[in-house]
Formats: sequence, structure tokens, C-alpha cells
Amino acid sequence: MCIFCKIAAGEIPAAIVFKNDHVTAFNDLNPQAPTHILIIPNRHIESVNEILDDASANAVAECLRAAREIAQQQNLSNGYRLVTNIGKEGGQAVMHLHFHLLAGRRMGWPPG
Ligand code: 5GP
Ligand code: ZN
Repeated sequence: MCIFCKIAAGEIPAAIVFKNDHVTAFNDLNPQAPTHILIIPNRHIESVNEILDDASANAVAECLRAAREIAQQQNLSNGYRLVTNIGKEGGQAVMHLHFHLLAGRRMGWPPG
């Protein structure tokens, strides 16, 4: 099992902020903004490059739904950024699909 599968299964600890049958969201260990939450599908999918069937597409939709819910719960009415890194040059270090939800400061553009 990969490290994010273990977090989703509750086998290693994380500061969980949202959980349902499809999705787990928890604070990033190394936050890059005042709010930095990782939203992952509970089922292992490597990246959005692996969205090959309806089940995996639904898992991504559930992540986006969770992002909106977390933003409402945490009053992120000034906005937030969702990022998903894909592969080595995309900056992906953990090979389990995750969306970074970043908020609490003005985000730069273009991203680095
Ligand atoms: P990536 O570079 O793959 O897009 O992002 C991986 C993210 O996972 C990084 O921001 C890193 O800080 C975070 N991370 C890696 N291992 C752990 C962990 O065990 N627990 C938590 N909460 N975050 C982790
Ligand atoms: Zn996994």
C-alpha cells in the first residue's frame, strides 16, 4: 500500500479535515500556505493521467466536490487554489492522485 492509501485506511496518522466513502482530506505535512490540504480518492489512482473509466472519473469528481465543501466549512470565501501535479516534471512526489487545496494568501501566477 502507498503512503496515501495508508492514510485513507487510517493505518498511519494524519490531521483529517474531511472524509467520506470516496475521499479523504488532510493537512499537508509541509504546508505552502496558511491552509494547505491534500484531497485524495480513497481508492488508489496514480494521477489524473489514469482516469480511464467512469469509476476513476467519479473519484475525481468526488475530490472536487470535497474541495468545495471544505472551502465552505473553512470560510475560504476569498478564494483558493486547487493543484494536481502529474509525473516527475509536473512535480508529483507521491504517486497517489491528490489535489492540493491552498488558501490564506494571494497565489502567484504563473506557478513555479
Ligand atoms: P506532490 O509533490 O506529490 O504533488 O505532493 C505531495 C505532498 O504530500 C507534499 O506537499 C508533501 O508535503 C505531502 N506529504 C508527503 N508525505 C506526507 C505524509 O505522510 N503526510 C502528510 N500529511 N503529507 C505528506
Ligand atoms: Zn495509494
